[in-house]
Amino acid sequence: MRTFIWDVRTETGTMSTLDQDLEALGQPVAVHGLELTDARQAQVGDVTVRRLLPLRLRRSVGAWCFIDHYGPMSVDGVTGMAVPPHPHIGLQTVTWLLAGNVLHRDSLGSEQMIRPGQLNLMTAGRGIAHAEESPVEHDPQLHGVQLWVALPEASRLAEPAFEHHAQLPFHEADGLMITVFMGGLTGSRSPATTFSRLMGAELTARRDASTRLELNPDFEHVIFVANGTAEVAGTALRPGQMLYLPTGHEGIPVAAPSGSTMLLLGGVPLGEHLLMWWNFVARTPQEIQAAVADWDAGRFGEVGGYAGDPLKAPPLRADLLIRKP
Ligand code: MN
Repeated sequence: MRTFIWDVRTETGTMSTLDQDLEALGQPVAVHGLELTDARQAQVGDVTVRRLLPLRLRRSVGAWCFIDHYGPMSVDGVTGMAVPPHPHIGLQTVTWLLAGNVLHRDSLGSEQMIRPGQLNLMTAGRGIAHAEESPVEHDPQLHGVQLWVALPEASRLAEPAFEHHAQLPFHEADGLMITVFMGGLTGSRSPATTFSRLMGAELTARRDASTRLELNPDFEHVIFVANGTAEVAGTALRPGQMLYLPTGHEGIPVAAPSGSTMLLLGGVPLGEHLLMWWNFVARTPQEIQAAVADWDAGRFGEVGGYAGDPLKAPPLRADLLIRKP
């Protein structure tokens, strides 16, 4: 799959998603025919995150095109998360917490607190703006993932929407509690709106757990550890590492000590050329330029209630647009 990216140096790096730091990444390590990659560090405001996707040679897994893992960290007595209003197009944001609480507000007027085990799903479609922050009175710990799903060509101009799912289906397999927040896995299916065939689930070991996880062989998958350790398909994993499994796998052995948590994401390979820049997922530079102009002109709408200025798009230099294989 070819992807076009803007090779743009940003002044702050804040929320800049794809840039030449991808070029500095090493090759994934092949283990047992799978690919093991290390996260790189990125800054989102004051928070250092482990960025697992995109990778230089793998810009999406199914339609999943962005994975940030942050924490666990203490936010006791400090501001905590503070992501000012910013726009999105062409994607869904999937917010999933393992500890703490975060308040979401968007340009549709949504205002929603999220806690562990719940899903905030925002469909940007043709355009939405939102802010995410630790509420003034917040839990002392914060731990979570911020995920993006690229909308396929047929759906990427969909009406913007926000949904919150306070309860999600779960089941247990040999000590592993499996909570499905997007799509389906081994009998549990999330009610969340999806636009392509994909899945996302949290796997938490309630005791020392060892099982064979059934997978959809039409899907490619990634699995990573959020807490503790795990052994997946014979490969030891710790936080900051991600294992990629190509299509064709009908199941994998998973073992984890009590208390460990993993995230499993998968989907049918997208097979579309993505152009990702800042908070936008598009197909052409012109769309990115139009989205920046719309944001600068206030055409994404207001996000109420945030005590601070919206984010500014980093400088966009069309002369730096380059094609990469
Ligand atoms: Mn966002």
